[in-house]
Amino acid sequence: MDNFVVSARKYRPATFDTVVGQAHITTTLKNAILTNHLAQAFLFCGPRGVGKTTCARILAKTINCQNLGKSEAVEPCDHCDSCVSFNQNASFNIHELDAASNNSVEDIRNLIDQVRYPPQSGQYKIYIIDEVHMLSQAAFNAFLKTLEEPPSYAIFILATTEKHKILPTILSRCQLFDFNRIQPRDIADHLASIAQKEGIQTEYEALELIAQKADGGLRDALSMFDLNVTFSEDRILRYKEVLENLHILDYDYYFRLTDLLLAGNLPQSMLLFDEILRKGFDGHQFIVGLSEHFRNLLVCKDVATIQLLQVTESIQQKYLQQAAEAPLSFLLSALSVGAQCDLNYKSAKNQRLHVEVCLMKLANLPNVLDIHAVPVLSSHSEPGETRNPEQAEKKKDSSADRDALTTSREPVALPSHTSEPTNGYHPQPNGNGTAKPLPERSPVIAGIPKPVGSKLRTTSNLVTVERPVATMADAVATALAEAPEMIKVDKPFTFEELQTVWQTYARMRDQQDGSRTEQVMLNRAFRLEGTMIHIALDNSLQANLLNDLRQDLLTYLRRELQNSQIQLTDTIALQETRKMIYTPQDKFNYLAEKNPALLELKRTLGLDVDY
Ligand SMILES: [Zn+2]
Repeated sequence: MDNFVVSARKYRPATFDTVVGQAHITTTLKNAILTNHLAQAFLFCGPRGVGKTTCARILAKTINCQNLGKSEAVEPCDHCDSCVSFNQNASFNIHELDAASNNSVEDIRNLIDQVRYPPQSGQYKIYIIDEVHMLSQAAFNAFLKTLEEPPSYAIFILATTEKHKILPTILSRCQLFDFNRIQPRDIADHLASIAQKEGIQTEYEALELIAQKADGGLRDALSMFDLNVTFSEDRILRYKEVLENLHILDYDYYFRLTDLLLAGNLPQSMLLFDEILRKGFDGHQFIVGLSEHFRNLLVCKDVATIQLLQVTESIQQKYLQQAAEAPLSFLLSALSVGAQCDLNYKSAKNQRLHVEVCLMKLANLPNVLDIHAVPVLSSHSEPGETRNPEQAEKKKDSSADRDALTTSREPVALPSHTSEPTNGYHPQPNGNGTAKPLPERSPVIAGIPKPVGSKLRTTSNLVTVERPVATMADAVATALAEAPEMIKVDKPFTFEELQTVWQTYARMRDQQDGSRTEQVMLNRAFRLEGTMIHIALDNSLQANLLNDLRQDLLTYLRRELQNSQIQLTDTIALQETRKMIYTPQDKFNYLAEKNPALLELKRTLGLDVDY
């Protein structure tokens, strides 16, 4: 039986062109080799398992290839002595140091010692230092000089997953390359090609699942792939089995649950959650997954953000379909409820109940939001407008309530929008089962109309204004202009005016049930700075009285002086309070104050106060 070699090693790319998902890096490196502009120190940053070490090795192999430049492609020939020794892992021109375990000054000194000797064969010596952020401070410092002025044959490639931990002095000496997370689709395609070479039958969905779980790391994806191949008895990767092996909650659950929640079906939602728990999934994992599902639906709402949906094509269609049925207001509220549940999950005593309460809130959202009645673009049906009669009926019901609001908005459709009256948040059953195309326009947050045109009406004067309005801000400005009595302008006032009003207030209080202390307090001197009144009080008793009175007083002053900015602040004047001399320490302090020589005595003899 042959020794099993894991796919990550067996199929480690050997040329730039076979590196998955890092075209921006390989192209740059190839151009640098081609134009002979190769830097002597590189820093490769990026998540684990995305090809940093692989690219470093390919670079080392390529620049040492004896046949380089004899063909157009900047790739190693794989036949010359150098390439062969590289392929056999026997090249003396490549040195790898794992800084995670060799992070001392000694390790770096050893490396620097090696750098002194030029390569015996080939042109370059390549030093790859992995996890370079783990180097100790002293090791970094020992390395700086060599990194700044390396011999012409030495090339340093530093690799790290945590760029922010690298000292600026190192960063400035290196050429930086940021490696991407690899797109799920690229990973799935790569796995498919490996499966083909290995003679393994696969369902593409299964590979997509692995790609999703790998979260951009190809090495992780490959080990998961190996694991699943080992599990399968007949060398066929099936979606269902991979789902179980990787212990992933099927997307399907989230889709079903969202459908139930949208329909306000709490009983079925709770049963579904129970089913998920019985399959051995954790409640927290579930709620995080559900929130992510809502997030994915949200990004589907807009053409601009749809690229943020990092799922594979087959699932994308399902997302688009459900996103069309889920109103934006529901998704936003659901995300907020989910985030709250996630946040408090750890501290909840009964975690199952905690998630169930979250489900109850979610299932109740359609009722609270009244999503089917919320106006999308228009809140009323214009008599002349043609539209779905059923929708018009619903809108009439809801619009009755909104008439009570101060302003109601009636959009006037712009010419380009006339053919389609609404922006379509109402679930529109789609006969052929395909996803509804996204609306061309960006979605509208429920309740805020699209800025088309508006008719504003204020209840106070019932003046109806009709004019095209460009933005919400304009609409507000228009509303204010049409209702001048609504506008509050702060009137300036003088100190004398304030005094008059203040005294009137004090008299008023006196006639009501004002106490003696209150009158004293109200007759304290005050001064005015802008709209801030400073009043100096004698004691905390007065301060408490003022606090009780503050709101009433401010309301009165603001109304009488017609200025809403008036504020009131008080200070208690410092008083010579006679402190009781009580403790031995107090007594000593009192005496020492009278005769400072006591302090000297205490210090000299090392005395202390007796307690
Ligand atoms: Zn070669």
